[in-house]
Amino acid sequence: MSVIKIKRQAVTQAGQGHPWIFSNQISDFPKTLSPGSLVDILGPRGEWMGRGYFNPHSLIAIRILTREKEDINTAFFEKRIKQALNYRTKLIPDETVYRLIFSEGDFLPGLIVDRYEDVLIAQFLTAGIQVLEKEIVEALKNLLSPSCILARNDAPIRALEKLPQENTVLFGERPEPMAIEKNGFKMRVDLWEGQKTGLYLDQSENQKKVAPLSKDARVLDAFSYSGGFGLQALKGGAKEILFLDSSEAAIRQAKENAELNGFSEKCRFLCEDAFDTLKRFDEEKRRFDMVILDPPSFTKSKTKIHEAARGYKEINLRAMKILEPGGFLISCSCSYHMEAGFFMEILTSAAQDARRTLRLIEFSGQSPDHPILPSVPETSYLKCAILQVI
Ligand code: SAH
Repeated sequence: MSVIKIKRQAVTQAGQGHPWIFSNQISDFPKTLSPGSLVDILGPRGEWMGRGYFNPHSLIAIRILTREKEDINTAFFEKRIKQALNYRTKLIPDETVYRLIFSEGDFLPGLIVDRYEDVLIAQFLTAGIQVLEKEIVEALKNLLSPSCILARNDAPIRALEKLPQENTVLFGERPEPMAIEKNGFKMRVDLWEGQKTGLYLDQSENQKKVAPLSKDARVLDAFSYSGGFGLQALKGGAKEILFLDSSEAAIRQAKENAELNGFSEKCRFLCEDAFDTLKRFDEEKRRFDMVILDPPSFTKSKTKIHEAARGYKEINLRAMKILEPGGFLISCSCSYHMEAGFFMEILTSAAQDARRTLRLIEFSGQSPDHPILPSVPETSYLKCAILQVI
């Protein structure tokens, strides 16, 4: 096993349970090490600290896999995956569609595995975890006996590790787009080409919260994707709903899902840029009883946070203006760099400009299958404010 020494400032961070060591925190490493190599990590006095993987091309040079002297092999992954399974069995015992491995949150940095009934979709986001693909696939097969395992390696973040964008079948046969059951709805998912791995599983719990607020409501589900929020509103008794998304594929899927669940008559669909639609609805004085805003991340970096803030303020301001007094706004942000406090400030400032008062019903985050480690702030990224707009 190759050995890498880290600097003193990295020791504190690693000691507090953070698995990342940045390239400028390394004092010494063998120049022959290839991307993804397993390494033992030593402190400045030569003390053994843990075992992880190394990528000389990445700013996050090392990610720690274990703090015990154990082999990184199929048995290691079986142990970690079993722990992740136990956690989900406790928290979401009836789910058959969920995130099984959430990278750092499940002590497997760089690895995502989503379970869609008996199909598993993996994402290998770092060179180190990519090198261990065979062991991971073996462990998944041994524990879960899936019908197939796909690699959705088209996540742009792989570029930071100099990894190619490519989807592959790791085991079994690639499934056609199929209907699965999620949150009590039939959902058609395209596991090969859909956004993310097919669904936004992180929103699953937040979606359920709109049903009790939806009776007789006229709803706008903006940034709807395949309709996870809107279907809940329909279940809760919404009178009519407009699904809005700029992606044609997303709108097609929302339409199919509305049909599959017998809601078509109450649904309209619009494929358009939501910024334009919200502005137009405001000018036309259209009114809704509920608006859902679940935009994509407006920034992937801290430096662009003020630009992102302008985007959030714009859509929230418009949404507040088109809501009837007493209507509900479900407003989300999935940008890690947008902190919860700042997000609430933006919402408050939008309300002032719209001359409305907000009542916060609930402020929540991601579903429990995306576990948060307080010692690793990066594991917490999703914010969802459920508001009454008075
Ligand atoms: N609410 C969805 C997830 C939304 S993800 C769910 O619960 O499943 C964000 C969505 O916004 C994507 O479907 C994407 O196609 C869409 N989108 C991105 N930019 C947009 C824009 N400017 N206007 C409308 N939709 C947009």
